[in-house]
Amino acid sequence: MGRTTSGRVYGAGRGRVQTPASDESVARGARPYDGSMTEVSTSSPARTGPRERRVSARIGAIAESATLKVDAKAKALKAEGRPVIGFGAGEPDFPTPAYVVEAAVEACRDPKNHRYTPAGGLPELRQAIADKTRRDSGLEVSAAQVVVTNGGKQAIYESFATMLDPGDEVIVPAPYWTTYPEAIQLAGGVAVPVLADETQEYKVTVEQLEAARTDRTKVLLFVSPSNPTGAVYTADEIRAIGRWVEDHGLWVLTDEIYEHLVYDGVETGSLPVLCPFLADHTVVVNGVAKTYAMTGWRVGWLIAPSDLATAAANLQSHATSNVSNVSQRAALAAVTGDLSAVDEMKAAFDRRRRTIVSMLNEIDGVVCPMPRGAFYAYPSVRALLGREYDGRVVESSADLAEYILEKAEVAVVPGEAFGSPGYLRLSYALGDDDLVEGITRLQKLFA
Ligand code: PMP
Repeated sequence: MGRTTSGRVYGAGRGRVQTPASDESVARGARPYDGSMTEVSTSSPARTGPRERRVSARIGAIAESATLKVDAKAKALKAEGRPVIGFGAGEPDFPTPAYVVEAAVEACRDPKNHRYTPAGGLPELRQAIADKTRRDSGLEVSAAQVVVTNGGKQAIYESFATMLDPGDEVIVPAPYWTTYPEAIQLAGGVAVPVLADETQEYKVTVEQLEAARTDRTKVLLFVSPSNPTGAVYTADEIRAIGRWVEDHGLWVLTDEIYEHLVYDGVETGSLPVLCPFLADHTVVVNGVAKTYAMTGWRVGWLIAPSDLATAAANLQSHATSNVSNVSQRAALAAVTGDLSAVDEMKAAFDRRRRTIVSMLNEIDGVVCPMPRGAFYAYPSVRALLGREYDGRVVESSADLAEYILEKAEVAVVPGEAFGSPGYLRLSYALGDDDLVEGITRLQKLFA
């Protein structure tokens, strides 16, 4: 398959990506932003004064996070008393381990933690993250290369802001996590999606990457295990992609936030460990959210060559300063502790993964490959589209997700959010009983 694109438009006007009719941003009325600022500032200079130009073009082009939107809608319906089952949220349903919570309680009581820390993070946490990285992935880094951020999300934004100049292109394998293109665009870059569908286990090939490369390509975004598909690249596949990155003098941002959630004994690994020649051109993003069930604590990090790390910390020093000192103390307890909490969660996720995939595949018209990592199932629902349900034709996966929420009171995220219409994402980080009840409702809805 050559380079195919779908979903959203980034950097419109540069002619890199076509907009399909079902484009979510078009449906929403959002304006693609091309980085030039001309659209708003020169549209009708006589009539638009500073007060009429309200939201900047750059920020006005950002879409609301579709995953958080679905989750918020599901929670609102629940609050009204409706028995909604949520497959929308990308967060473990387990509590944060008690020893982590205790460390935070203690930290609250100690006045030294009522103060700022260095913008890049507590020195002992940066060292502990370097140690943890050596322990878990085998990558040797120094504390100076680590910047502690408000979640992996801020690490991603800061990495792109630090790496990209206006018009620099980032190749983004699709289906992609909804935040990547927005962060790239906000940083002035252009996201170039490369679609891999279920027939290739949602994994891009070197040939596809090469077809998408131009002389403006600067970075490859790489994520394994993947959100939203759960795809895990094998060590050999990663080596091949790493060699391609090196051959063309590119950078790579590798998102390792699901590093501990790999099933079926897939032989995989960390990209800069498998491709040591990329050490000086790789940024690693990670965090405590998924491994320690700490989504709400907002602690992540980036690991970069020290010039980039320093630049990113400078950016952060003006944007947010340090991450909450108490949260950093909690993260310190987490990363210096053992991995028993994630092992326990993984056993539960693995069980739920098998259940959800086999139950989804029992529905006529749903095709769900077995995800090998993370905690998401990503079925194709294309065969369910274009049909009439209760007197109305459901044309897109976005329509289908709405129909499912209304009729079955089950929240799922449509593929439009991930640059691949025709699919749904279901997080299986929810209780076993809810999972079975939710998918049973879908089975009945489409029986
Ligand atoms: N990367 C991926 C692939 C994710 O799925 C998420 C969370 N949904 C993050 C990064 C960021 O997580 P957080 O900001 O909560 O650390």
